[in-house]
Amino acid sequence: MSDQGVKVAVRCRPFNQREKDRGAKLIIDMNGAMTTIQNPETPNEEPKKFTFDFSYWSHDGYNEKDDGYLEAQPGSKYSSQRRVFEDLGQGVLDNAFKGFNCSLFAYGQTGSGKSYSMVGYGNNKGIVPITCDELFKAIEAGDKATKYEVTFSMLEIYNEQVRDLLSKDNPKGGLQVRQNPKLGLFYVVGLKKVAVGSYAEIDKRTQEGTANRTVASTNMNATSSRAHTVVTITFDQISKNEAGEETKKSSVINLVDLAGSERADSTGATGDRLKEGANINKSLSALGNVISALADLSGGKKKVMVPYRDSVLTKLLQNALGGNSKTVMIAALSPADINYDETLSTLRYADRAKKIKNKAVVNENPLD
Ligand code: ADP
Ligand code: MG
Repeated sequence: MSDQGVKVAVRCRPFNQREKDRGAKLIIDMNGAMTTIQNPETPNEEPKKFTFDFSYWSHDGYNEKDDGYLEAQPGSKYSSQRRVFEDLGQGVLDNAFKGFNCSLFAYGQTGSGKSYSMVGYGNNKGIVPITCDELFKAIEAGDKATKYEVTFSMLEIYNEQVRDLLSKDNPKGGLQVRQNPKLGLFYVVGLKKVAVGSYAEIDKRTQEGTANRTVASTNMNATSSRAHTVVTITFDQISKNEAGEETKKSSVINLVDLAGSERADSTGATGDRLKEGANINKSLSALGNVISALADLSGGKKKVMVPYRDSVLTKLLQNALGGNSKTVMIAALSPADINYDETLSTLRYADRAKKIKNKAVVNENPLD
């Protein structure tokens, strides 16, 4: 068994056009493991300090290559997509091969860089595609006597309803979430789980799923999804042990791009959009409560109820958060003074997640 905390990473993006147009000021700094944030209203006060397992400065210090890839200028502290993959994605891969469940989720306000880190844009591929690509490369190079099986599924949680992104006809009201009586874990009834044999197949399925997402525009970011997107990859390795018996090592990999963490009122939402915002907050505030409860438990507090059942998101992430999983959270930060309140709340959220200790075990069982 491996008793290990949730690993938390923070990443600070460049200014966007809107911030540049408004003459935004930089209020984030990173030095080694330390991230600081300056309250723009009290510039003479000491900035607030946080430390995390990984700190990625991606605000400046990069060159754009001909193919659009952003790479670090020599000597700069800029963290490229490759660098982030090498720390976070490679760890996921290594653990998956060992038979641990793994989860990676991205938290932050809309426009802060969650999808950039997870999925990426153009040639700046994010952790998810690079990890999938490397998974199949490792399988190719792997033990020929081992049988490898990979499946892929993709869902979104929108207004507390689950939609299968690999399915064209989702039932009205969404798919049901049920609890497995034996394992105690929640699962989505009837979710499509497709076998994949190459990175190209995963890529095709991801594009299919992305096209099926619910896209609603808000004032804050016209193209951003207001839903939580969950990609699940199962990875099984079947081989013979020394006694000649077949055994199976299994790993479930959850890759979660969360909806924007901002409060509904800051996006100017009304009507249907407001209801949507309230529900998004329901899932995210439930996630916050689960994180707090788990942090208390890990801190030695007794008799803490972990409220997984309060939202669809926390039901599905139960194992990823407080159970049998090696978990990484990446908190995406805006560099700009105009987002101070949201960025500070993201840093506090990430700081609480750091305190969670999971107990991940290798999933290895004889085949029956
Ligand atoms: P979110 O998914 O949190 O809503 P995005 O990932 O879509 O936000 O990022 C918003 C914008 O910022 C995108 O145009 C993206 O290309 C840019 N961006 C985000 N993170 C980075 C980064 N680390 N380096 C360069 N550009 C980034
Ligand atoms: Mg996004």
